[in-house]
Amino acid sequence: MDQLIEWDKKHFIHPTSSIRDQQEKGAKVIFEKGEGIYLTDKNGKKYIDAMSSLWNVNIGHGRKELGEAARQQMDQLAFSSAFSTFSHEPTIQLAKKIADLAPSNLNAIFFTSGGSESNDSAFKLVRHYWRIQGQPERNKIVSLKRGYHGVAAGATSATGIPEFWDMAGQLQSGFVHAATPYWEGTQGSIKSIREVIEAEGPETIAAFIAEPIQGAGGVLVPPSDYFQEIRKLCDDYGIVFIADEVITGFGRTGTMFGLEHSGVQPDMMTFAKGVTSGYFPLGGVIVSDQIHGVLKEKSMGTLFHGFTYSGHPTAAAVALKNIEIIEKEGLVENSRKMGELLLEGFKKLKADLQIIGDVRGVGLLGAVELMEDPSANKRFSPELKVAGKVIEALHQRGVICRAVAYEGTDIICFSPPLVIKEEEVKTLLEKLREAISEVAQELSVKS
Ligand code: PMP
Repeated sequence: MDQLIEWDKKHFIHPTSSIRDQQEKGAKVIFEKGEGIYLTDKNGKKYIDAMSSLWNVNIGHGRKELGEAARQQMDQLAFSSAFSTFSHEPTIQLAKKIADLAPSNLNAIFFTSGGSESNDSAFKLVRHYWRIQGQPERNKIVSLKRGYHGVAAGATSATGIPEFWDMAGQLQSGFVHAATPYWEGTQGSIKSIREVIEAEGPETIAAFIAEPIQGAGGVLVPPSDYFQEIRKLCDDYGIVFIADEVITGFGRTGTMFGLEHSGVQPDMMTFAKGVTSGYFPLGGVIVSDQIHGVLKEKSMGTLFHGFTYSGHPTAAAVALKNIEIIEKEGLVENSRKMGELLLEGFKKLKADLQIIGDVRGVGLLGAVELMEDPSANKRFSPELKVAGKVIEALHQRGVICRAVAYEGTDIICFSPPLVIKEEEVKTLLEKLREAISEVAQELSVKS
């Protein structure tokens, strides 16, 4: 164990982690096993994985069928390229399956290995789409503040959380950000987007991208009319609307895709995470029949965009089995039902514990926001690191959650596996109550 911690410090640069914390304290936990909603570490301590790891292990841990699907595909054909129109059956089957599940106007898919690659691919595809129609000046991408779209060059630039920008040195040109509807409301956000578009020049805007619910930004749920207004605005300006369903896809919000709650169809949709429940890296961009039509008609020569693993057959076989499980076991429905219980529980906590400012959730994507004085909308001082303390108190009780503390907020995010059961939701809520009460007491805030 000590040897592993030492090698971790010496040789493993962790993603989105504090290098200083790693060097001072060593790896936080070394996990060894996963089953259902639980993870077990090398010391045998069991945790509820209330984040589905990174919002992605939708069918839960330890499903042998996925390993079996991967093994069978690897035995048969582990990998062959999909470049130059070479093909193979699992990816064709998966493309057809996803087209059947996606909104009716979205039927053609470009595959990647994850969410960031999917968003960068969407940006390149949409710019290509305008260029081949004789409008190369339409190349700017509008996104929302507090949105998260990944860490590749374009995705970082589209992300509206400044903490992620520093490492890029500078953002790519052609990315502009507008106000989020969570704080500004539908009209405030729409107004801000219009202002951005008008300032940049509508003829220079290629696309607008947003998550149906801003996940990494703190599970910021927009007003229910928001995406209808977005659809109208994009239509007004002839802008392509890209829905980033990397978190919200494949059942997370109690519908197969998050935008279904709004009854709105995007022109492009990016996905990753839940498509394989994290058992194999995979993502993609689904484009509308209209966009696909233009590509088919006007895209001459080679489409110079493709990752080695675009259309990986083993990833496709794993995704097909994962989607089969989601459908057969009614996990979208379970996400909706358990999500309702979770939100009800959050509301009870809010009624009882003074430092809870807001609770929200759609399906199994939820958040509890902490405030010093909710009635005055007063946040805690960031130095107190209140959300971090609650996460730590939860950790001690065997629950893994995620804190979001950008811009002085203290948000605890929840995204448990879609297989979670009623009893497990109750346990999670009990532990949350204990953890928040403990921190509230520590802060000497009456709770
Ligand atoms: N978009 C959204 C909405 C995400 O939440 C994420 C990852 N958390 C990404 C894109 C990036 O995906 P990846 O980490 O697989 O590149």
